[in-house]
Amino acid sequence: MIGRGTSTDHRFDNMAKAGSRKKLPKEVAVINADNCTGCESCLEVCPVDCIVKVPGETIGCLQSFCEIDVERCVGCEVCVHIPTKKSDPYELTVCPWDAIEMLPTIKVAQYVAAKGGPPDYLRDNWERIVEPAIRMAQLAAEQQA
Ligand code: SF4
Ligand code: SF4
Repeated sequence: MIGRGTSTDHRFDNMAKAGSRKKLPKEVAVINADNCTGCESCLEVCPVDCIVKVPGETIGCLQSFCEIDVERCVGCEVCVHIPTKKSDPYELTVCPWDAIEMLPTIKVAQYVAAKGGPPDYLRDNWERIVEPAIRMAQLAAEQQA
């Protein structure tokens, strides 16, 4: 099990308390943990504070990565790219490692289960990380039906 600090615990508690909402975003942000270095650039810009940093298991500062509470993500894309004028040919991306994607909400469960963290970590934290993604995908499917 990966150790976590007090403030991270608090934020994980918030993740667990996420409630249902009337209308889901069409897309939510997901992080490919394999590509994420835990640099916190995305964490700094999220307007709803739904991104948390996970320390690495054996070398905390070197193996850390971030994860997104998909039940609290509002799909604003601010963690993916900085909004620019439509006439601006350059897109300013937030993640230096291209680790964040906007995914259709209906597909979020498979992605999180496959790329949301190291296999052992996902297995140990399945209820907190993958089950919310499954709930989101099911709700999205119901809303699309
Ligand atoms: S899409 Fe918006 S709400 Fe979702 S994680 Fe990124 S910045 Fe936060
Ligand atoms: S910006 Fe990218 S590399 Fe940095 S913490 Fe976020 S997902 Fe990870």
